[in-house]
Amino acid sequence: MRLSQFHLHTSKETPAEAEIVSHKLMLKAGMMRKLAAGLYTWSPLGLRVLRKVENAVREEMNAAGALELLMPTIQPKELWEETGRWQKFGGQLLKIKDRKEAEYCYGPTAEEVITDFARNELSSYKQLPVNFYNIQWKFRDEIRPRFGAMRAREFLMKDAYSFHVDDESLAAEYQNMYDTYGRVFTRLGLKFRAVAADTGAIGGSASHEFQVLADSGEDAIFFSTGSDYAANVELAEAVAPGPRAAAGEAMRKVDTPTQKTCEDVAALMGIPLQRTVKSVALMGVDGDGAPQFVLALVRGDHAVNEVKLAKLAGLADYRMASEGEIDTHLGSEPGFLGPVLVGGAKSTAGSPKQAIRIIADRSVAAMADFVVGANEKGFHLAGVNWGRDLPEPDLVADIRNVVEGDPSPDGQGTLAIARGVEVGHVFALGRKYSEAMQCTVLDANGKAVHPAMGCYGIGVSRIVAAAIEQNHDDNGIIWPDAMAPWQVAVCMINPKNDAGVTAAAEALYRELNAAGIDAVLDDRGLRPGAMFADIELIGIPHRVVVSERGLAAGSFEYRHRRASEAENLDRAALLARLG
Ligand code: ATP
Ligand code: MG
Ligand code: MG
Ligand code: MG
Repeated sequence: MRLSQFHLHTSKETPAEAEIVSHKLMLKAGMMRKLAAGLYTWSPLGLRVLRKVENAVREEMNAAGALELLMPTIQPKELWEETGRWQKFGGQLLKIKDRKEAEYCYGPTAEEVITDFARNELSSYKQLPVNFYNIQWKFRDEIRPRFGAMRAREFLMKDAYSFHVDDESLAAEYQNMYDTYGRVFTRLGLKFRAVAADTGAIGGSASHEFQVLADSGEDAIFFSTGSDYAANVELAEAVAPGPRAAAGEAMRKVDTPTQKTCEDVAALMGIPLQRTVKSVALMGVDGDGAPQFVLALVRGDHAVNEVKLAKLAGLADYRMASEGEIDTHLGSEPGFLGPVLVGGAKSTAGSPKQAIRIIADRSVAAMADFVVGANEKGFHLAGVNWGRDLPEPDLVADIRNVVEGDPSPDGQGTLAIARGVEVGHVFALGRKYSEAMQCTVLDANGKAVHPAMGCYGIGVSRIVAAAIEQNHDDNGIIWPDAMAPWQVAVCMINPKNDAGVTAAAEALYRELNAAGIDAVLDDRGLRPGAMFADIELIGIPHRVVVSERGLAAGSFEYRHRRASEAENLDRAALLARLG
């Protein structure tokens, strides 16, 4: 590519709307432009990077034996009703009607679609195991789309789904995908950690997340200083189950699992609630159907962190609930007990920070006090925009205060906390979907069985942002080679339009591309300062400068994006360096 014929649109200004470095740099480099909240147009430059990530993921998936297919983005409601997720998935599901009033959603994930495909395609154990994947746009109506590609509403995901005649085969493929993910993220040059994770709304038994370590990450992960133990703080096992046990004890006295209100629970726990609200962000249910207790700390925009806090408190199974859903589901859905305690966060008496300490203290009495304080009149906030109306609590810092240094659950070393960006997630699903959707195959004895399933996601577009969080300096992005828009920039310093400089630069550019090195020629005729600033901002890892002076000395000036000094290399040495 010649930059004179490309659409490069960089900017010196730091965009006001961007909070984290990757979002700022993607906008400054002109990689993407916002269309609406959580919706972005990827520019030709941004798309080059996105495609590099996509292709690396595709190559590793193919090498691991998975088979690519392509599913639609729009999915019929009927499939989602079969699994119950039309209701359960919550507010992230974007529902659409066609002209005949038939209902659809824009797929946030594709378990239903692939299980429908499988029940039609697969009939015999001889066709198993099989792992189908696609790289397709997804839509989730995130409560808080932010940080650009990091938490968008429409985003590119690689999602794979495997089918197995027995659990051993599923376990083998789970391990195969776990190993493949390690290869993908290593190849992309990312520093990451695989952590034990919660299975969330997708369901299933085993689950690991792949977290790219970055200070801006929205996830907090525990890791042991003395072993490989690592877990998302969302995972209950990471902390002692003190409040859970005590709250569960109180809840066990609730005999009918229907229509229990905040007042009922409060009465059982001896908490004099003065006011309750129905619009809460959280509902809880124990996986075993055991009584559960949920403390919703704040509401609305901040619900994501509430989930994390509630999990930290040792509660088992969560999902987000939209306000409209509460009335339908509170107490009426099987397994849902309904009681929900709601807190606000207007004063220090009810602040999330205080709640974290209370949770960490593992004291139900303190939690009860907190609820009392938070339930006073005026403490319930509607439509709060954190950061604008109230300072954003630094949850990770607070969790760090209270747990860092605790013994690791595996007994080796102590716990430390890091921030991470979830870029991949593998789940052993079991038979949840094949049973709900009557997907069966005949086993070796001719008996119809529900195949065990696994599902494996990678956030392709999120990786672009996550990589920048780890690889940048004051001058801009520093792409790992595998995801750079181009490997090498050939820059011409040619103020006098010297035919020799032009010819030498063009020849080098052609030679590099012929050798399979993805090179770009900067033939825009900019002055060196402006040209170099652009090339650094957009993160090209290798830069070669062709100038009259260099040519006279028989050399090219080479500099790696991370190097502080340039070196002069002759043609052979340069090609050896880049090859
Ligand atoms: P998160 O915890 O960040 O909301 P998730 O656990 O809901 O992610 P999964 O259902 O596990 O996401 O989806 C698989 C992958 O898709 C995630 O690991 C992540 O990399 C990516 N992903 C999920 N939500 C988004 C989003 N809003 N924007 C960009 N990528 C996303
Ligand atoms: Mg999510
Ligand atoms: Mg997650
Ligand atoms: Mg996940």
